[in-house]
Amino acid sequence: MSNSPKHGRGVYAAQAIPKGARVIEYVGKRVPAKDSDAIAEKQMQRAGKSGTGHVYLFTLNKRYDIDGNVPWNKARLINHSCDPNCEVRIIHGHIWVIAKRAILPDEELTYDYGFNMDSWQDHVCRCGTRKCMGYIVSASRRGALARVLKKSHVTKQNRA
Ligand SMILES: [Zn+2]
Repeated sequence: MSNSPKHGRGVYAAQAIPKGARVIEYVGKRVPAKDSDAIAEKQMQRAGKSGTGHVYLFTLNKRYDIDGNVPWNKARLINHSCDPNCEVRIIHGHIWVIAKRAILPDEELTYDYGFNMDSWQDHVCRCGTRKCMGYIVSASRRGALARVLKKSHVTKQNRA
């Protein structure tokens, strides 16, 4: 692990990783799903202040979420990318970061944080990929964000 030019610290591949491999497990505290809105709200507030998109909650199942904001969860340091090389999948009750494609040694690991459109302005993205929209939203909401950005005449150029 070392400093990333993107958001915070990033996580880098120590060796080549084949496509489809389980890279790292996203671990944390199991919290009842009913409590996670309040936890997310707190994390959002902190994220807004620091300008980074750090909400660490993952839906595990109907009853439980995982709060990954714990020091032993190295996967929490993985940055979002609008064109990520990893994805997150739940396999037998565990949250895994999986390689979407072959990854080279020293390549930074990234995945789509999958944020919705709530307070998207607070979550600036600096992933630097060609697909980057300047804000962190899930792949499925990129269209909606594009429409909002168009309306507000905010372009990549004048944000920079
Ligand atoms: Zn981006």
